[in-house]
Amino acid sequence: MFADPLTQTYDVIVVGSGATGGWAAKRLSEAGIRVALLEAGREVTPKEFTEHMPAFKLKYRNVSPEIVKTRPIQKQCYACMEYNYDWFVNDLENPYSTPKDKPFTWQRLRILGGRTLVWGRQSYRMSDLDFKAYSHDGYGQDWPVSYKDIAPFYDIVEDYVGISGAAEGNAAKRGLSRGVNFPPVKSAASHIVASPSVTQTACFCPLGARSAACRAWVNSCGSTYPASNLATSVLLSSTYSPGTLRNRTSFP
Ligand SMILES: Cc1cc2nc3c(=O)[nH]c(=O)nc-3n(C[C@H](O)[C@H](O)[C@H](O)COP(=O)(O)OP(=O)(O)OC[C@H]3O[C@@H](n4cnc5c(N)ncnc54)[C@H](O)[C@@H]3O)c2cc1C
Repeated sequence: MFADPLTQTYDVIVVGSGATGGWAAKRLSEAGIRVALLEAGREVTPKEFTEHMPAFKLKYRNVSPEIVKTRPIQKQCYACMEYNYDWFVNDLENPYSTPKDKPFTWQRLRILGGRTLVWGRQSYRMSDLDFKAYSHDGYGQDWPVSYKDIAPFYDIVEDYVGISGAAEGNAAKRGLSRGVNFPPVKSAASHIVASPSVTQTACFCPLGARSAACRAWVNSCGSTYPASNLATSVLLSSTYSPGTLRNRTSFP
């Protein structure tokens, strides 16, 4: 028996369970702080990950009229497809505007885990070429932090998430302290043929090459999803089914 989460007191309320909120909730909870994580989207079940299904197996061959009608902006992104379009916001219900001369296609998900469920898994470290760009090329401003301040935190996140790839020596060239810790996924024949000409690629994993092996290290349901579930004292999910409030103490 758990106490009603609505009657509890929390030290921190985190809004949104994406990479940002999920990670914040995890770290704060681990530090002993009572966290309430508010998420507007519903939970996704493993059965819903059908991205490897060929288009001809989908009801509308991946040209569902529903996507065209309700997700005219979201469908501009390759990741919004017939098998998962309802993870993305309904553009008609969630309009936004931009200046005429500055159009912006805004991909938004309303789902537990947010955009980590569709991200491409390219995981880069910023270096002092980024943090100290002004000193380097005169553009922008230098950040008040440098790579050495941030590096230990990159280590923590990468180890937890399981960033994988081949150590190709590019990290050192950019002044980064280390490469990835986990082995790369197996290359397809086409990657091996192309690899001599691809010298800057740390982790090459296009959508079409996703495989069971690839998912073993970092996958769309394996990053902040368990983080947000495991770590938070309570998960409140309200938008899709108001009143669905529950205590979360374990993750299957
Ligand atoms: C197709 C695609 C591919 C990408 N590939 C890469 C990549 O390879 N490498 C990379 O580094 N980045 C990539 N990105 C970007 C990366 O995924 C995002 O920058 C990151 O996931 C954003 O995390 P976030 O927590 O800031 O936001 P989100 O993931 O958008 O999380 C926001 C969360 O807040 C919830 N929410 C919104 N409003 C409310 C509310 N009012 N109340 C409660 N909850 C609310 C949403 O439901 C959502 O769960 C990609 C993005 C997309 C769309």
